[in-house]
Order: sequence, then C-alpha cells, then structure tokens
Amino acid sequence: MSDADAEVPKLIAVADGIHVRQEVDNIAWLDMGDHLLVVDALEQPELKDEVFDAIASTAPGKPVRYVLNTHTHYDHVALNDAFRRRWGAEIISHAATPLQPEGRQFAGERRTVRMIPMPGCHTDEDCIVWAPEDKVLFVGDIFGWGLIPLTVNLRRESRDLLLDTYQRLIALAPAVVVPGHGPICPDNELQRWVDYFLWLEKTISEACAAGETDAEIVARVEPPADMRNWWRFLKWKHDDTVAKIIKACRKGWVGPSNGE
Ligand SMILES: [Zn+2]
Repeated sequence: MSDADAEVPKLIAVADGIHVRQEVDNIAWLDMGDHLLVVDALEQPELKDEVFDAIASTAPGKPVRYVLNTHTHYDHVALNDAFRRRWGAEIISHAATPLQPEGRQFAGERRTVRMIPMPGCHTDEDCIVWAPEDKVLFVGDIFGWGLIPLTVNLRRESRDLLLDTYQRLIALAPAVVVPGHGPICPDNELQRWVDYFLWLEKTISEACAAGETDAEIVARVEPPADMRNWWRFLKWKHDDTVAKIIKACRKGWVGPSNGE
C-alpha cells in the first residue's frame, strides 16, 4: 500500500461486527450486541456526520454506549462530545478515570472487550483495547509504523519499558493489530519493529564505540528491504528513529551494557 493509498478513508471490517474507518487517524466501533463500543475519536470534529453515517450503515439503529480513548491527545478525542450528545455515551480514558492494572471489562451479548492500561510507551495514560474472542488488538499510538513512540527521551528505563510492553502485546497473539494512525497491520509488525529496534541499537552502539561519524552510521543502517513499504517509513520515520538512537548512544543512555 502506498502512502497516498493509506491516507484515503476506507471502511474495513477487521472481524465480524468490528469496523475501522482507516485514514491518517483511525476510529473503530465494535458491535457488542445491543449497543456499540467505539475506540478513539479522531482529530476533526467536522467528520461527525460521515462517521455517524458509516456507523449506521454497519449497525443500523444501535446506540454507541462507550467511547474508549487509548489516550487523550487531541487527535484521538475530537468526536467525544458528539458521541456524548448523540447517545449519552460514556467517555473513558485512563487520564480521566484511572483504571486498575487489570483494566476494565466490557461484556456484551456478542463479545467481550477489555481496556488495559499500558502506560509509558507514548504517554503516561496509554491504554490498549483487546477483543479476545476476535483476537483484535487496538494499540493506539504505541505502534507507529517504524517510529519510536516515546514522547520522552530514549533512555535505559524508557527503552526497557517499551520492549517489555511490546512483549506483552506480542504474547496476546493478536490476529489483527489496529494502530491509532495509518494502515491496519496485516502481519507480524509488532515483532518486526522490535527486531528492527534491537538491530539499530546494536549496530549504532557498536559504530559509536568504534568512533564512526553520524554520516557513516546513517549510511550503515539503510532502511530494511521488507520495511520499505511501511507507512511514511521512508519519508521520515526511519531517519527519525536512527537519529534518536544515535543521540541516545552518544549520550550513553542506551548501548551494549543493556546486554541484548
Ligand atoms: Zn498520540
């Protein structure tokens, strides 16, 4: 899928009764039986009518009872008020109503959904949404098609938390992963990103230790062939990730003493 294709709005059924309106920002709704549960609420309030029409086309007459925000960045919450006004939907985020570590379960006639806090990869309020019977996983901005999702510096502690969180996500064995932005992950992208990150960390830390310049290091870590079609990867994400890891290695924040 080219970057341009990825940015044309599409309505995708990722499972029976689970739809995603995929664009630059993604919104999803899950048919729980007699009501719907929404995951994330976009950046543009003017998309309200289009989104409500799409919801009605897949689940005529069913009310939206819950809106789950994976985090409350502006590009995930714009339609919260519209859902509240239209159906009296309950808006739920870890920032507004802190969840227990095991999360909150939503049980419908048709499926069960669990919202689980996994803070620290992108914001201190990150949650995932997991539909275990369908094996559909919504990760918000924890996965960014090649980006390091941290909004804090890459340091030993943040790096370890990031990799631990990815292992928890991979252990769920999802069949489909829906990120907050861009295409739905068709394959094993979470593990691929971990391998990519560890490869960059090892290669760059060794090159730093050998006294290579930034330009020499950048030339050494070309974008991997199998990731060249990742969304916006060649445009800027690979370069951004490499720059962050070079900085962290030069500062001694990550490197061989991590033992991987
Ligand atoms: Zn975000």
